[in-house]
Amino acid sequence: MRIRIDPDRCQGHARCFAISPELFEVDEYGYSSLRVEGDVPPQLEEKARLAVANCPEFAIEELA
Ligand code: SF4
Repeated sequence: MRIRIDPDRCQGHARCFAISPELFEVDEYGYSSLRVEGDVPPQLEEKARLAVANCPEFAIEELA
């Protein structure tokens, strides 16, 4: 699976980072960016889906 973050939607709650610091990093304002390029490692897929489901701004998208 792959995910992406829409930087226009991200409001910097850092909830994704709380769920998976392996997948996300946040800047000093809490805005998130991806730490992984390409496919999410299989062992992190469940956390990636959790992050998608828990982003309050729907800024994280699972790509087909
Ligand atoms: S949970 Fe969503 S809105 Fe919050 S930092 Fe992560 S991507 Fe941005």
